[in-house]
Amino acid sequence: MSVRVGKIEFGAADFVVIAGPCAVESERQILRTAEAVAEAGAKMLRGGSFKPRTSPYAFQGLGAEGLKLLARAGRETGLPVVTEVMSDMQVDLVAEYADMLQIGSRSMGNEALLAAAAASGRPILLKRGMSATVEEMAEAAESMRQHGNPRIVLCERGIRTFGTATRNTCDIVAVPLLQRLTGLPVIVDPSHATGVRELISPVARAAVAIGADGLIIEVHPDPDRALSDGAQSLTFQQFRELMGDIQPFAGIWSERRNGVCACV
Ligand code: PEP
Ligand code: MN
Repeated sequence: MSVRVGKIEFGAADFVVIAGPCAVESERQILRTAEAVAEAGAKMLRGGSFKPRTSPYAFQGLGAEGLKLLARAGRETGLPVVTEVMSDMQVDLVAEYADMLQIGSRSMGNEALLAAAAASGRPILLKRGMSATVEEMAEAAESMRQHGNPRIVLCERGIRTFGTATRNTCDIVAVPLLQRLTGLPVIVDPSHATGVRELISPVARAAVAIGADGLIIEVHPDPDRALSDGAQSLTFQQFRELMGDIQPFAGIWSERRNGVCACV
């Protein structure tokens, strides 16, 4: 099934690219990024305001203030916004500002959060738990459906393995598996899946080629000074290049999705 967020539709005719910083850091940072990604062809804006950090010393996000800045940047650029909600207690607040609620990797198994997020009626971006199987992820989605909300987009964001060359291991085959298992749109997050800026474009191309319904990409005006996830964030120029890199694949994707191409 397809999932609508404003005028965007996941799982339908369009390949949806969501882009923006890991975290909202300032008014200027989020506005500049929103303008740059919109101009390059992104269809939605991302930006964390309540940040789930592994280290207590890491930047925790701007909280409610960041939500307001994100919503404003979305309004000014015409992009719907997605941001993470970390607890059931935050759902009402985040749903007031966000067009789509993100449930992060560290929260995929939080049943109270899944129930509250589902009850908000907002569309949900459900990220794969870093140690979750595809079946467990499908069950988390099913739980939200049971709570009355079928508007769910799944996101493969890499899983923990013995590999250390990348931040996580991108389980690209999860894309068709989850699509078949759940009937829901599935997007890929090459930023968190690799943790390495240079690997984002190759993984993004693989995602389009395997039939993903979209991408979520971290972009920052000055990645080396980002308060979180700078090493995996693209500059504006690199994001423009990425959009160019996926273009030929997106063309084939679109022909296939719309039944124009009989050869595959
Ligand atoms: C994020 O999208 O910034 C994030 C924290 O992702 P994940 O939950 O996949 O780690
Ligand atoms: Mn991040």
